[in-house]
Amino acid sequence: MAKCDVAIIGAGPYGLSATAHLRTVKGLDVHTFGEPMSFWERNMPKGMLLRSGWAASQIADPNQSLTMEAYQAASRTHFSSPVPLDHFVEYGHWYQRQSVPGLDSRKIARVESDSKGFRLMLQDGETVLAGRLVVAAGIGSFTWRPPEFASLPCSLASHTSEHRELRRFAGKQVLVIGSGQSALESAALLHESGTEVEIVARARQIRWLGGLVSRTMQHGLGTISKLLYAPTDVGPAGISQVVARPDFVRRMPRSIQDWLRNRSIRPAGAGWLAARLQNVPINLGRSIVSAAPVGERIRVQLNDGSERTIDHVLLGTGYRVDVSKYDFLAPKLAQSISRFQGYPRLRGGFESSIPRLHFLGAPAIWSFGPLMQFVVGTHYSSRALLRCVAGKAAGDRVRVGEPLVAELG
Ligand SMILES: Cc1cc2nc3c(=O)[nH]c(=O)nc-3n(C[C@H](O)[C@H](O)[C@H](O)COP(=O)(O)OP(=O)(O)OC[C@H]3O[C@@H](n4cnc5c(N)ncnc54)[C@H](O)[C@@H]3O)c2cc1C
Repeated sequence: MAKCDVAIIGAGPYGLSATAHLRTVKGLDVHTFGEPMSFWERNMPKGMLLRSGWAASQIADPNQSLTMEAYQAASRTHFSSPVPLDHFVEYGHWYQRQSVPGLDSRKIARVESDSKGFRLMLQDGETVLAGRLVVAAGIGSFTWRPPEFASLPCSLASHTSEHRELRRFAGKQVLVIGSGQSALESAALLHESGTEVEIVARARQIRWLGGLVSRTMQHGLGTISKLLYAPTDVGPAGISQVVARPDFVRRMPRSIQDWLRNRSIRPAGAGWLAARLQNVPINLGRSIVSAAPVGERIRVQLNDGSERTIDHVLLGTGYRVDVSKYDFLAPKLAQSISRFQGYPRLRGGFESSIPRLHFLGAPAIWSFGPLMQFVVGTHYSSRALLRCVAGKAAGDRVRVGEPLVAELG
């Protein structure tokens, strides 16, 4: 049976960055599994632009050399902010080739634990024994489908993550549900590709990020803006500076942590989307009462008494973290992880209640704050993991915590 010191499940931004950091430790055998950037490549729509700003879209690496600027120079391409999805995917692949050679793209079918460590069963039947396991498997398992749509086929109601190519809806009538970036950007892309699209959302107003007020502040009041907004690009004025410091956030009373999280990751759209949605009808303060098939179409009833019969409903209803939904975790192992509403309770080094089992990315939001929902969180999590795995000395060589803001700024 193959053995390694550390196994990492996931080759998105979090898994790649964690691998690059852990591989700086001499003698540590780190084995990483997963298809690189697969979620970005397959579960986000063609033509998408990243919501996060330039500095916040860089994947952390231990030498701070695998930046998007370095990628552009190496590949002789040019792009700017907002970063186009295709370029970001290519950047991720380039990052992987530079810092994670020998990546094993096979899928992990099952993980069990015993006194010796973690037993990973691969899709082809091979087994690997790892002393430590880092789960960086993303949010693909956590898609949220409202109960009204539970029994409807995907041909009538599908989640935004099920689409790479939205042009297939050209000439059709589509109702998009939600007021977050996924819903709003999908609606814009549908509209631009000739779909008759309408948005319905429970929210009473759309929150635009980096809209007029924020842009004016950033250009006109440079220093004040820098004081209010951290380069991590997560959270509103003032709160942005607090959540950019996960070490600080996790020492706060639980009620304040929850408030910071709710304020920072409420549904919102990038300001640059507003103009693209000018001709798309948006119904706010409405919810879905029922949905039923009518021949090859779907009839939806709203709480204002109105009805729509359309070709398709696109659910921009987001994701709800629940690590027990990672189908590769054996039920016994998943149930033994201490959790709160699906989030694992993590201590320093992103370690769960099961010794040497770590979770990175969105599952870490409850313990380390909203930064962990975004690529920028890699700048904190990879270092904290390294510090935990290799000891304080190694962790201190790459700084943890406060300097994150200075580095990105
Ligand atoms: C539409 C949309 C737009 C977004 N835009 C932004 C943005 O602009 N900026 C931003 O910072 N964030 C954005 N996000 C959030 C983004 O998803 C996360 O920041 C990022 O993907 C987190 O990276 P990750 O490494 O945790 O997960 P992922 O990128 O999802 O990577 C998961 C990895 O795990 C692997 N994996 C899963 N299961 C297994 C298994 N059983 N065996 C082996 N490998 C496995 C996958 O193959 C993949 O390699 C967006 C999300 C969505 C849905």
